[in-house]
Amino acid sequence: MNDDYDRKSRAGSRLQCPQCAGREVQTQRIRHVFQYGQEPEAVQLSAVVPLRRCARCGFEFLDAAAEEAQHEAICRHLGVMTPAEIRELRRRYGLSRKQFAAITKLGAATVARWERGELIQNTAYDQFLYLLTFAENLQRLRDRNKPAPRADCPADWNGEPPRFRLINPTDDERAARRSFLLKTA
Ligand SMILES: [Zn+2]
Repeated sequence: MNDDYDRKSRAGSRLQCPQCAGREVQTQRIRHVFQYGQEPEAVQLSAVVPLRRCARCGFEFLDAAAEEAQHEAICRHLGVMTPAEIRELRRRYGLSRKQFAAITKLGAATVARWERGELIQNTAYDQFLYLLTFAENLQRLRDRNKPAPRADCPADWNGEPPRFRLINPTDDERAARRSFLLKTA
């Protein structure tokens, strides 16, 4: 359970019953077992989810917080980072989604979907995200994104500009060079 769920639970009195619109909704944590995937590869996963119960009409329901907990259990099963972990990774560097996207070249909308749990990153992207948990790797990407110095304008000339020899000159160019040499000789 992460802080998000706890905050939502503490704010339980502000939740509204979808049945009677009452505001006295209580939260109880239950272990919820669910099936993930299609037969024959389907597996049984379990997650601790907040079950809401309306004190006025007795209606019981699961909401977005339960869905988030189930999504987290699926990510753990697949061995990939959870939405909360991806959010935490980006926030640790103090980056907005737009800034994070600019450095990593990931799509900002894709990152948003991963963070909201609407989409699970494939394992290759997950490996990439894992590497980004090391600050030096993020720095390498930042450095790589800096515009490269212009090749035709070296910054470290010592006096004479370097001379370049023509590689694989054409016959015309050879002729031009010969005639040039003849005139100067
Ligand atoms: Zn109710």
